[in-house]
Amino acid sequence: MKIVLATRNKKKIEEIRRIVEGMPITIYTLDDFPDCPEVIEDGKTFEENAVKKAIAVSKHAGMPALSDDSGLEVDALNKAPGVLSARYAGEEADDRKNVEKLLREMINKEDRTARFVCCITLAFPHGEIKTFMGYCEGRIGEKPKGSNGFGYDPVFYPEGYNRTFAEIGDEEKDALSHRGTALRKLHQFLKTYG
Ligand code: IMP
Repeated sequence: MKIVLATRNKKKIEEIRRIVEGMPITIYTLDDFPDCPEVIEDGKTFEENAVKKAIAVSKHAGMPALSDDSGLEVDALNKAPGVLSARYAGEEADDRKNVEKLLREMINKEDRTARFVCCITLAFPHGEIKTFMGYCEGRIGEKPKGSNGFGYDPVFYPEGYNRTFAEIGDEEKDALSHRGTALRKLHQFLKTYG
């Protein structure tokens, strides 16, 4: 199946490409559809945003589109940053500023449990929509460690690990991650799709 990725996030594209390798998918990107309009992510849930992005891109491109809306939920912060993960430190935020803000908010917090959430949506031009959720439980560290990955990886310790997502290898991250789990569910769906 030919699928266009409904994201401009290079790190996400890299991970998705890696995880879907070997699946019956040919990947296109928004670089192949330069006139595709920007989608405003104003949903209250990962699913709302993912569905909105996938439908908009699928309609524009006239082919199935796959979106990824994801983020970090921290229990001691009432599940913030959540859908605002990319813009936690403001509209001009980058990964470093977001991590710094998170660590400031977590000062003196005893409960450091958190999870990454990923909603993958596949939208077809004829209107069919499928969503696949993935979760990865873990905890927030005291300071950034490691240089792999992106986003909050340097402060996220997956459950049972004493290394952050930014310290473990790509393959290990993909096997555990919210994105890996959601995309493996997509794979199961594609196996049954006529
Ligand atoms: P989105 O583009 O609105 O889905 O924003 C996703 C944001 O969540 C990213 O910019 C990161 O800050 C964070 N995020 C999502 N997945 C990961 C991951 O695998 N590692 C680290 N941060 C992630």
